[in-house]
Amino acid sequence: MVSLPFIPAAKPIIGDEERAAVDRVLLSGMVAQGPEAKAFEAEFADRLVGGRQCVAVSSGTSGLHLGLLAAGVGPGDEVIVPSFTFAATGNSVALTGATPVFADIDPASFCLDPASVRAAITERTKGIMPVHLYGHPAAMDELRVIADEHGVALYEDAAQAHGAQLHGTPVGAFGDFAMFSLYPTKNMTSGEGGMVSCATDEIARNVRLLRNQGMETQYANEVIGFNARMTDLHAAIGRVQLTKVEAWTAQRQANAAHLDAGLAGLPGVTVPVVREGAVHVYHQYTIRVAEDRDRIVTALREEHGVGSGVYYPIPNHRLPSLAPYAPGLDLPRTEEAAQQVISLPVHPSLTDGDLERVVSAVTAAVKAGS
Ligand SMILES: *Cc1c(COP(=O)(O)O)cnc(C)c1O
Repeated sequence: MVSLPFIPAAKPIIGDEERAAVDRVLLSGMVAQGPEAKAFEAEFADRLVGGRQCVAVSSGTSGLHLGLLAAGVGPGDEVIVPSFTFAATGNSVALTGATPVFADIDPASFCLDPASVRAAITERTKGIMPVHLYGHPAAMDELRVIADEHGVALYEDAAQAHGAQLHGTPVGAFGDFAMFSLYPTKNMTSGEGGMVSCATDEIARNVRLLRNQGMETQYANEVIGFNARMTDLHAAIGRVQLTKVEAWTAQRQANAAHLDAGLAGLPGVTVPVVREGAVHVYHQYTIRVAEDRDRIVTALREEHGVGSGVYYPIPNHRLPSLAPYAPGLDLPRTEEAAQQVISLPVHPSLTDGDLERVVSAVTAAVKAGS
């Protein structure tokens, strides 16, 4: 088995068109932020978030940070976030001087549980920032009701969810702002980069100011800002990827259906759930195993040549960096997921043969423990 080629958990696809686009920018001599970034923003807005204003930035993390600052989040505020996510979610809240408040997840979707969010609201709550984890939309409908009831804002960490929808609305069109990551392992990439989709002209203008030293007009700095600009080299890659992401998503969904068919009946394994009204874009195809997760991950790699990932093994509220914000907090469904999840290869480059190998490898690895 090990003699078969290794199936990686993720595989960025960079083609000749991306290379040609970078070359075009290099030949133009204008490589910093310019017309490519501007065009990328308009095209992204058009294709993915129903025409909302988009602002291109240097990373997803800076997109979250600038989005929160642009929405007025700062010291004394609390923002409710999941703990079962990449650390950038809580980090970005902490970087504004506000306090990340961690809530538990819905065990089916792995996204924020509205009841846990409701219980975490205080007079200091400024906003709620769900993550559309693994490409499944968070419960934006229920979270909107809670947010409105308490007069707090909704923001979105859509880093993993380009093209996901809930009841026909694309993610990125629910919150005051939403961030999409363009890191190489995400559903589309610009090399490094992020896109911030904004609900209002004011938030969009604030993100633009913060992205560029607080300037709209050169040397007329209005606020303290960063350099978080996306270069035209990166934007040119992103523009090409944007024309392909829809087909890649369809392939991810077909691959997920193939894995579902092979794994759904396997004792001790739970395949991903798609909530009614949701379009899941399968950034990850994440199963739960009742026990023995780490042994199974090792067996997949060592005995079957199948890569997989554990996202995320340590809940954010227990990381040395973020734990000080959550003394004594217990999030049982987050803890359980962190023990049980395995993300299997689902990327668009997989062949049917690869998918068959993933199914038989998981089946064998799970059965070996029973
Ligand atoms: C990738 C990711 C980020 C950060 O994006 P970068 O582009 O890597 O800075 C934030 N949140 C989540 C959920 C992510 O997966």
